[in-house]
Amino acid sequence: MNLDNVPAAPIVYGVEDRFHYVISDGCVMCGSCAAACPADAISAGGEQYEIDPERCIDCGTCAYVCPLGVPQPV
Ligand code: SF4
Ligand code: SF4
Repeated sequence: MNLDNVPAAPIVYGVEDRFHYVISDGCVMCGSCAAACPADAISAGGEQYEIDPERCIDCGTCAYVCPLGVPQPV
């Protein structure tokens, strides 16, 4: 079998390949999301809370508990 013309399909497994949640503008630093996150992926940043994409399991709990709906999947 001649495979010379078969393009190599890159197989990449990593955080880039799946959804995770992010906290963007609008966080008032109430801490509800961090307290509820089952993966301990949320911590207080400088001006807002931050989500570690490598820990986030995309469960959506942070978006559910946030009073302002700030965390969103990307
Ligand atoms: S989606 Fe779930 S695991 Fe990810 S940051 Fe929000 S609460 Fe944590
Ligand atoms: S629950 Fe919402 S407002 Fe509160 S810290 Fe998390 S993202 Fe910010």
